[in-house]
Amino acid sequence: MRTLYDDAIHDRSLPTPSYWEATAPESRPQAQAVDGDVAADVAVIGGGLTGLSCALHLARDHAIRAHVLEAGPIGWGASSRAGGFVCLGAVKLGFGDCVSRFGEDGTRALWRAQVEAMDLVSDLAQAEAIDLWRQGDGQYEVAHKPARMADLAREREGLARYAGLTAELLSAEAFREVGHGGTEAFGALHVPKGFGVHPLRWTWGLADAAARHGAVLHGRSPVVDWRRENGRHRLVTPTGSVLARHVVVATNGYTPDGLLADLDGRPLPMLSNILVTRPLDDGERAAVPWHTQTPVANTRIRLFYYRLLADGRVLFGARGDTTGRPEDGARVLRWMRRRLGDLFPPLRGIAVDFAWRGLVCLLPKRSPAIGRSAADPSVFYGLGYHGNGMAMAPWTGRILARLVAGAGAEATLVPAALRGAGPAVPWPAGRLWWIRAALAWYALKDRL
Ligand SMILES: Cc1cc2nc3c(=O)[nH]c(=O)nc-3n(C[C@H](O)[C@H](O)[C@H](O)COP(=O)(O)OP(=O)(O)OC[C@H]3O[C@@H](n4cnc5c(N)ncnc54)[C@H](O)[C@@H]3O)c2cc1C
Repeated sequence: MRTLYDDAIHDRSLPTPSYWEATAPESRPQAQAVDGDVAADVAVIGGGLTGLSCALHLARDHAIRAHVLEAGPIGWGASSRAGGFVCLGAVKLGFGDCVSRFGEDGTRALWRAQVEAMDLVSDLAQAEAIDLWRQGDGQYEVAHKPARMADLAREREGLARYAGLTAELLSAEAFREVGHGGTEAFGALHVPKGFGVHPLRWTWGLADAAARHGAVLHGRSPVVDWRRENGRHRLVTPTGSVLARHVVVATNGYTPDGLLADLDGRPLPMLSNILVTRPLDDGERAAVPWHTQTPVANTRIRLFYYRLLADGRVLFGARGDTTGRPEDGARVLRWMRRRLGDLFPPLRGIAVDFAWRGLVCLLPKRSPAIGRSAADPSVFYGLGYHGNGMAMAPWTGRILARLVAGAGAEATLVPAALRGAGPAVPWPAGRLWWIRAALAWYALKDRL
């Protein structure tokens, strides 16, 4: 199985050295490696929010016991190391594009699904007693140039029409009163849906809930071979195998080519990097000024996303390098520290206590992909949240559980824009060059 980035990105020997790990609950989800040969109704490959939600919903809602196979510790991938923004953004198609391809109703279904996904996070947290460390109220999109206010105004109209959300446009002065100041804050759109969470607590909480309802979790169980045996699937790991009737592929940005033909050449995995500063003191907060704990992203296509954590630290995220080599990660971190100071001059040179990175998954179709293998109807997949899977991944997991259980058909459960993996990239072997070219183009557009 082939991956695009340096081995450092796939090193699962240690948990990610993130702020979230440093503030994790004391006990990790119980998840032994596969031991010998076992049989199951469903095997789920990937123990992040998609796979865990699928396993939880299979067990809880359909009385189907799934075995989750995760190559690292449970939640090792993007899920436990995200920025924790529960927000819109998994779909990168504009409203106009969407309407011309999927019609008014298809567009509405797509945006309503994203809103439903955010509600699902709250509902699951309540039903399964997961302490999300929830923060903020909605989400802010901040105009990084005055001209971007017109884009935000158009977005407000689209959200009202297709998502049923009444967003509020704030001038730079009004935003400074409730949000923050800085050199790239020319007004903002407040979207009245969304919040911040502790992504690792969210992921582990979902894992514990899945196990409590009967799912079987296996950490340190990479699927290294996948064979068909008498109409079933044998998924082989270094310490044993699972023989299953159905397989769900939930590997998102960590999906290697060669795992499932339907996905080969489609994922455009991109590195996202995060730094977390030491706690700000009152003087620094007043100097920015920084009032809000609501998550913020700016209007750059190569966006910055940031939030004030409950203990006063700033979490600041950006798209990363395109090799995965440790030295390139260090270079991006230096650049991010500089840019944090450019955006918020009172924070120039502030100590950074944590920094880490991980893979998000873009797709050429520019929307998430939920589907069933063309070659084998007992195999399903869900991925491609474009860096916004805190809500869409568990929502997709729930849909996958319904599809596996036969509780509905794709045509009714899955909005058209999300159905299927879409086309592969032309010249898949050169995907990192596509990504580099796209990032260079976006950087240019962000300056215009
Ligand atoms: C730095 C960063 C910041 C982000 N910030 C946000 C945010 O603020 N808000 C937001 O909504 N989204 C954010 N995201 C995106 C979000 O984290 C993802 O969209 C979401 O977690 C995807 O969940 P998943 O379960 O599909 O994939 P993952 O959590 O990536 O899980 C996939 C798993 O599959 C496993 N796997 C791969 N191959 C195999 C194999 N052969 N055998 C067994 N297991 C395998 C991997 O080890 C991995 O753990 C961020 C991502 C990153 C990296």
